[in-house]
Amino acid sequence: MGEGCSRILDELWERAVKAGASDVHFDPDPEGWSIRFRVSGELRPAARWDLRTGMEAAQRIKLLARMDIAEKRVPQDGGLRLAVGGREVAMRVATLPTVRGERLVVRIHSPWAAGAGLESGPEGRAEDSVWDRWLRCLEAPHGLFLVAGPTGSGKTTSLYRVVAEWVRRGECVVTFEDPVEREISGAHQVELRPARGFDYRRALAAGLRQDPSALAIGEIRDADAAWAAVHGALSGCRVVATIHARGPGDVWQRLYRWGVTPGELSGSLAAVLTQRLRPKGCPLCRRRRRGNAAGGVATPRQPERCPRCAGRGRVGFEVLYHLTVLQGRGDGREEEGRRRPSGRFQGVIEDPDGGGEVCEMVEEG
Ligand SMILES: [Zn+2]
Repeated sequence: MGEGCSRILDELWERAVKAGASDVHFDPDPEGWSIRFRVSGELRPAARWDLRTGMEAAQRIKLLARMDIAEKRVPQDGGLRLAVGGREVAMRVATLPTVRGERLVVRIHSPWAAGAGLESGPEGRAEDSVWDRWLRCLEAPHGLFLVAGPTGSGKTTSLYRVVAEWVRRGECVVTFEDPVEREISGAHQVELRPARGFDYRRALAAGLRQDPSALAIGEIRDADAAWAAVHGALSGCRVVATIHARGPGDVWQRLYRWGVTPGELSGSLAAVLTQRLRPKGCPLCRRRRRGNAAGGVATPRQPERCPRCAGRGRVGFEVLYHLTVLQGRGDGREEEGRRRPSGRFQGVIEDPDGGGEVCEMVEEG
């Protein structure tokens, strides 16, 4: 592994962080490697490498992430920390064997991309916004609070906002992360070492002995994390975690598949905040369209001329929040006994745009 390779990678990380990329994709094909950045939810080409450079870079990343570099036929994942632009950045690496070779995705947990204003919620919302209701839910003495959504929708940022909010309220917050993605002063952040037996089960037992009032389990990716999240909540803590899911129904399905029983779930789950990305319309194009309509001139739209969006009609994405509060839970004011004892949940999805819709989840069996 030459020095050249490590320099190429260093430059790549620096570019990725500067671009605000959340992930870097390394895809091999018969001729070489395509490197892409995910920025604001979109994949953009970042570089094209020859086979040798790509192979060396992949090896180096796997080595730094403490993976088995000889193993290319089964998926692996690991974490690493690197100094990028003078600051430490945590990264998570996942490999996937494909028919074209082993591809890698590196998730970048940049401490300063999207990290501004962690203490305050999304700006520019009306007073009783979905975010405010979510914060009120978090006052409940115990329960599981999940942030659900697709990749790149900002779930981790929301999780850290919750941790920061609990710290601000003077709670004792213990986090279990794999790896710690961002440091929050005042929170007790613990990095798991599954390879050395320090997994979610051991961490939960040790964490609960620290007399916490709140726990943060990073992302629920497997049965162990699901177990820790649910049992942390059942033992009387507030627990926040993220989960890759489309919405409350999907959350339920996933947890069920990871071995959480309906009883455990109804006893713990308090609220689900679902996030999704919506393309943001180009303000310049919109202004032009309005101008045309007002003038009554039937000018054909010439989007290719728009300097702002290059004719695509949209610039980036915005995050939409939906909140599902499970009946009788979550806002800390209703009596525990008023919760439906049967295996049914009912919650209201509150739409930030005003029109609420009712969501019903029915347990199987
Ligand atoms: Zn435009």
